[in-house]
Amino acid sequence: MHGQITDGLRLPIGAASSVVRRYSTTLTDTPVRHAQIVRGAVVGGSGAINGGYFCRALPSDISGWGLDGWSWDDVLPHFIDIENDLDFDGPLHGSHGPITVRRVAEFDGCTASFVDAAQQAGYGWIDDLNGSTPDWALPAGVGALPLNIDRGTRVGPGRAFLQPASSRPNLTVLTDTRVRRIRMEGGRAVGADCVGATGAIVLTADRIVLCTGAIATAQLLMISGLGPAPVLRAAGVPVLVDLPVGTATMDHPEWVLPVSWPPTQGVPPLEAVLTTPDGLEIRPYTAGFGAMTDSRGGDPTDRPHLGVALMRPRSRGRITLVSADPDVAPVIEHRYDSAAADVEVLRSGFQLARELARESTRLDASWATSQHLCGSARMGSDGDPAAVVDNRCRVFGVDGLWVVDGSILPAITSRGPHATIVMAGHRAAEFIAAR
Ligand SMILES: Cc1cc2nc3c(=O)[nH]c(=O)nc-3n(C[C@H](O)[C@H](O)[C@H](O)COP(=O)(O)OP(=O)(O)OC[C@H]3O[C@@H](n4cnc5c(N)ncnc54)[C@H](O)[C@@H]3O)c2cc1C
Repeated sequence: MHGQITDGLRLPIGAASSVVRRYSTTLTDTPVRHAQIVRGAVVGGSGAINGGYFCRALPSDISGWGLDGWSWDDVLPHFIDIENDLDFDGPLHGSHGPITVRRVAEFDGCTASFVDAAQQAGYGWIDDLNGSTPDWALPAGVGALPLNIDRGTRVGPGRAFLQPASSRPNLTVLTDTRVRRIRMEGGRAVGADCVGATGAIVLTADRIVLCTGAIATAQLLMISGLGPAPVLRAAGVPVLVDLPVGTATMDHPEWVLPVSWPPTQGVPPLEAVLTTPDGLEIRPYTAGFGAMTDSRGGDPTDRPHLGVALMRPRSRGRITLVSADPDVAPVIEHRYDSAAADVEVLRSGFQLARELARESTRLDASWATSQHLCGSARMGSDGDPAAVVDNRCRVFGVDGLWVVDGSILPAITSRGPHATIVMAGHRAAEFIAAR
């Protein structure tokens, strides 16, 4: 298992993976397109199994949240504290944090072909994709991704933060233990019903921080009586607080195009991206998805792909509780085709990708997902009808319960969300410690 989560050159999400949990989703409604998505099911979560793209949200993303305590000046010190950027220093970058960040300096194969094609098409080179400030927005262009992959090793949050703390006397990590429900008493969260290797366990605590990711957090809140009243009633769960859990989730829709560029083995899954003025990110995956995920080794028939991802989609999805039984997964619907404007932008991005790759116009796009599901328990100000937690990550209407994971993102980031979620965890630790 250790090898699966440290090898940053592969995604350990293939059929043989022992480190992920699988969920079904519906990506689009017309026509209905089903897909499987995964979440990391190990210490360190999805950050232990992901693509290693570790790029901050833009200052405009954060200011768009409009939340007290979450201005760019508030969050920048946390972005700095979590990282050790081996390529850049100066006031924007950290050099003492536990997550090593570095970029690939020389491209080969598919990435090299892509970068050349983007530059020939007139896109400029961006030195530092983490280099924007509120006063200086990065232009569109192509650049090397900041990666939390250090010489082939994935430096995820479990390895970076939890492992070094494992000998602390006030820390106990219960592995192979699933939370089934939050225990509530008189409007206060007081514990969790769990099941471990030896059977049922009840844990109690005066502060409970739920960080089970966008899907499981939404399910656990709802199963515990905190969610949309009609949904809970239909699932047979007594309603404690009527909250908009899971009602407007977000993800980055992605169309994929197989390309004829040569696969490059032994490099990270994604090394560079092109960002366009209309909010698309075009991603040259260094080998085909099968080659990256098949634990038996690369599949030579699987070709590299370009991914065309829409980074600020209008579409909103849903996570709906359908049973009071924690073993029954919630229904997940991405509803990617619910905003016609999104589909139009994806279509234009697909055309650009085809031109860059000089691929024949006969190839059709395949719908996919970036697996960046978030926003199922959104953070917002008092009185915000879309919010589930306040700007200190406390669940509205309940005492003693915080949510700190990708569920709380008020809006999806213009980059992959991982670095921003880790930053949010670092920031929220201050709130919880100070309560
Ligand atoms: C295949 C894949 C590739 C990705 N690649 C990238 C990328 O390159 N860059 C990027 O920015 N983003 C990427 N992402 C997204 C990013 O990894 C996630 O958005 C981020 O890690 C989510 O963090 P989280 O803390 O919200 O949840 P998670 O990291 O999913 O953590 C949730 C944790 O809770 C645990 N858990 C769940 N349910 C229970 C329960 N009932 N009881 C106890 N524990 C439970 C899980 O085991 C897990 O450890 C990728 C995601 C996937 C799936």
